[in-house]
Amino acid sequence: MRTNATVSWHDARIERDKLGAHCKQIMNVNGEKLKIFTYPAPVLRQKAKIITNINGDLKKLTDNMLFTMYSAPGIGLAANQVGSLDRVIVFDLKPDEKEMKKPCVLINPEIVEREGTTKSEEACLSVIDYSAEVKRSAKVLVRGIGIDEKPLEIEAEGLLAICLQHEIDHLNGILFIDHISSLKRAMYKKKLKKILNKE
Ligand SMILES: [Zn+2]
Repeated sequence: MRTNATVSWHDARIERDKLGAHCKQIMNVNGEKLKIFTYPAPVLRQKAKIITNINGDLKKLTDNMLFTMYSAPGIGLAANQVGSLDRVIVFDLKPDEKEMKKPCVLINPEIVEREGTTKSEEACLSVIDYSAEVKRSAKVLVRGIGIDEKPLEIEAEGLLAICLQHEIDHLNGILFIDHISSLKRAMYKKKLKKILNKE
């Protein structure tokens, strides 16, 4: 997920602070920049597979995903977006350059409870040149496994809840543009065609 101006960074910071126990603060993430696949790449429409073995390859993948996310910059990235079908997302609601990084990795994430609704402007590293208002659950309870192989439970609201729903959607082959009206989506497809023809 891309950052945008409509979110409250104050609230995002509170949500980010709550993750303290799960996601350690660090200065830098080492990795390599991966190619981000963009719509309409088929991999974005595939369902990611449950991870049964947390090994060195997965750690390397998540380090590279985090590195790619920070470089973009974005606040969340799902494995599909870099061409992998491992069921894993990375995220960090990092408001600006000056703040320490707090990289979070969530393996096999699952939304187990939802509450309320909220609307906010979303953008995605895999959907070029576009943002739109999307309706989501206001609060979610997400379960998964951390990179340390420990079970994780995250109670999220605000931007964190939106980011988690956006990234978990990716693992199910869903993009934020699937949540907008068909008219808006058709307009975006037209716009994208023009952009791609220029390249
Ligand atoms: Zn996205």
